[in-house]
Amino acid sequence: MTQSNIPALEGPNCPLPIADRGQIVLGHGSGGQMTHDLVRDVFQSRLANPILNTANDAANIIDAPPGKRLVVSTDAHIVSPLFFAGGDIGRLAVCGTVNDVAMLGADPRFLTATFILEEGFSIQELELIVDSFAEACLEAGVELIAADTKVIEKGKSDKLFISTTGFGWADSQLQIGGEQAKPGDAVIISGPIGNHGIAVAEARGNFGFSSQVLSDIAPLNHLVKALLDAGLDVHVLRDPTRGGLATTLVEIARQSQVNIQLEEENIPIDKPVRKTCELLGLDPLYMANEGKLILILPADQTEEALRLMHITRYGEAAKVIGQVLEPSKGQVWLQTPFGTTRVLEMLAGEMLPRIC
Ligand code: MG
Repeated sequence: MTQSNIPALEGPNCPLPIADRGQIVLGHGSGGQMTHDLVRDVFQSRLANPILNTANDAANIIDAPPGKRLVVSTDAHIVSPLFFAGGDIGRLAVCGTVNDVAMLGADPRFLTATFILEEGFSIQELELIVDSFAEACLEAGVELIAADTKVIEKGKSDKLFISTTGFGWADSQLQIGGEQAKPGDAVIISGPIGNHGIAVAEARGNFGFSSQVLSDIAPLNHLVKALLDAGLDVHVLRDPTRGGLATTLVEIARQSQVNIQLEEENIPIDKPVRKTCELLGLDPLYMANEGKLILILPADQTEEALRLMHITRYGEAAKVIGQVLEPSKGQVWLQTPFGTTRVLEMLAGEMLPRIC
């Protein structure tokens, strides 16, 4: 097949099986519809098993100490550039994996990591990144229990990639996952959205102005623990990373087979993020976050959840942003301040490549 014969890659409506859609493009790594298509058609079709098929942030694999089960998650970090306002690839590699383990209600305890280095990469910069990695481990309360490094010839990689795997214990009776949202539940976001995406985009140096936005990268496991220790009936926890709040909520709506309605004016967005998005034509609902979580739980527990979040680090600005409606095929509606309604879809293609 020649380049000119490759059809448009348009997500679920693309008529061709994935193998006939030509080469891998950046959109396949976006976390949006193209990623979902690729995962379903190339990986799940060949590797399906009950654990893989749950499509959650982490996998429950075996029963571990009495009353506990092991929760595992793995992630590759290829952010570019390696340093940006508010963080770097080291903090990202720890928090990204810690948070995915915590999103099943687990207490993250251990990490493994692989550092893939490009020949010629600065040892000084590597030291800064490993310092940051260690500091984030300390803050999260996790230990690196195994690690590996590899070096690739100059020009055949890009400075540094880090892959991390996280392990944690969760109470065996917990049932938290994207498939657990129920009609009548409230949807809460732990704080303002879009900061990480803007901070990384700005670090690439092509804004032409300073937004003053810092990445929100943070370990969220202590926030999750505060909610669970209080005995709240948590149905869903998920961190809206690639694809942003909108894509993540569409994932949850589809997994749970419910409609979700959001109130646009209740969604917290910092002023500099909003302004930068307006200037650049970006939608903050689709911008990546690395220190935020979506919490879905029964509406009558909203007050207690907010009270706890507001006194816990990284939850101070938590807000109720919507509610779970009736059972359906899974749609997300955005109620605007003008009384109109917009249907939110998954991110189509790629907005900002190499954001995490
Ligand atoms: Mg996640």
